[in-house]
Amino acid sequence: MLVLDEVSRRYRSGEVEVRAVRGVSLTAAEGTLTAVMGPSGCGKSTLLTVAGGLQPPDSGAVTVAGVRIDQLSEAELYRHRRRHIGFVFQDYNLVRVLDAVENVALPAELDGVPRRKAHARAREALALVGLAGHAGRHPDSLSGGQQQRVALARAIASGGSLILADEPTGALDTESAARVLDALRDLVDAGATCVVVTHDDAVAARADRVLRMRDGALADAGAAA
Ligand code: ADP
Repeated sequence: MLVLDEVSRRYRSGEVEVRAVRGVSLTAAEGTLTAVMGPSGCGKSTLLTVAGGLQPPDSGAVTVAGVRIDQLSEAELYRHRRRHIGFVFQDYNLVRVLDAVENVALPAELDGVPRRKAHARAREALALVGLAGHAGRHPDSLSGGQQQRVALARAIASGGSLILADEPTGALDTESAARVLDALRDLVDAGATCVVVTHDDAVAARADRVLRMRDGALADAGAAA
């Protein structure tokens, strides 16, 4: 479960201040897939990174799995993020020297899960996204779409109950995108909370609700909170 309460985030570049997110309140419950759509620059990525504790809000409260993550120390936040939040980003963020199964197993291994168990779980997650036969491949030998599915498998395998995804189907052909969406939908139907930033109508079609963002705010603020 994710709860944002009056969350704001601004950036300063030189003299100019950009109010990227302005007082956003939103609740995403277990077992729901929320799509956030809106024009480029409206604050979607900023909202997602603040929701996942990758950057702090300037004001407002961010609660993940019952904990106010904006009030945690750096070390506590790191731990909470690793336990509860899986990220899928546009640029995959895979470790190039590790193969697919090692990349997917990494969060669990960092969390102290024994290697064999972490790898077994990683293989299951790779199978979920249709990459069972690619476990030993390194990111550089995979297509962009396949790398994105490895990143999704990693979010799944980390056991996170909150999956935050930024354009997860952006680099995928229609068939791969459909497979990733099936995997996401299965996860959500099994109880995960998922928030996806997307331009893709196919993602919106599989979402439980679609929120529209403009100029840092949600268009239908009442429905979101
Ligand atoms: P979206 O994901 O909807 O494209 P972003 O959250 O990336 O929107 O950006 C929202 C606004 O904040 C934009 O005006 C963007 O230029 C600005 N912005 C994003 N990141 C930074 C940053 N690190 N420094 C300064 N401005 C930024």
